[in-house]
Amino acid sequence: MTYITAAQAGFMACHACGHVDERATPPAGAHERVPPQRCSRCGAPLHQRNLDSIPRTWALLIAAALLYIPANLLPVLHTSSLVGSQDDTIMSGVVYFWTSGDWPLAIIIFIASILVPMLKLVVLTLLTITAQRRSPWRPLERAKLYRLVERIGRWSMLDVFVITLTVSLVRFNSLAVITAGWGALAFASVVVLTMIAAMQFDPRLIWDNVDHSGQHDE
Ligand SMILES: [Zn+2]
Repeated sequence: MTYITAAQAGFMACHACGHVDERATPPAGAHERVPPQRCSRCGAPLHQRNLDSIPRTWALLIAAALLYIPANLLPVLHTSSLVGSQDDTIMSGVVYFWTSGDWPLAIIIFIASILVPMLKLVVLTLLTITAQRRSPWRPLERAKLYRLVERIGRWSMLDVFVITLTVSLVRFNSLAVITAGWGALAFASVVVLTMIAAMQFDPRLIWDNVDHSGQHDE
């Protein structure tokens, strides 16, 4: 079965209200940066694809990858008590909970703050590279990966939540003074930047070259 997409037929969907409009032909001689066509129903600007999706996703991904380093090297918690003070990175926290027998907590922290952010960076990098090269490689799997990354985005703040909880709990019941370190700020930035990167990535780019190559025909 062959089909053509709405884009090939000259239509664009509105991001805001879902209304489908016919794409106006740009005036002759005008170059790319003409003001965008607006939705005939709600007035929102219409785009065939998110504007500059790939460079914007790259910028956010690179920033997130750079901040991933201090997020893991700098202390996320600073504890000072009568017996001395201690700085804990994410990994030393995992090791501490693991060796003190709290292994479920150790596993949760390891997955939520080391594994998941790294996997998100890797998956988004893979999606951006393949979209940039207009690769027709496994579009369905890539679309599923994208949905997965979007879905786990909301759980990424779990770790920031754990840090906040630890700080407030320890403040309540001991003489120790515990504060969040710079690593926590870097970690929160990694989480926010990857979330925005996932939003900037336009998943329709995955299918752009697939429709033309006829791979989807069945
Ligand atoms: Zn609209």
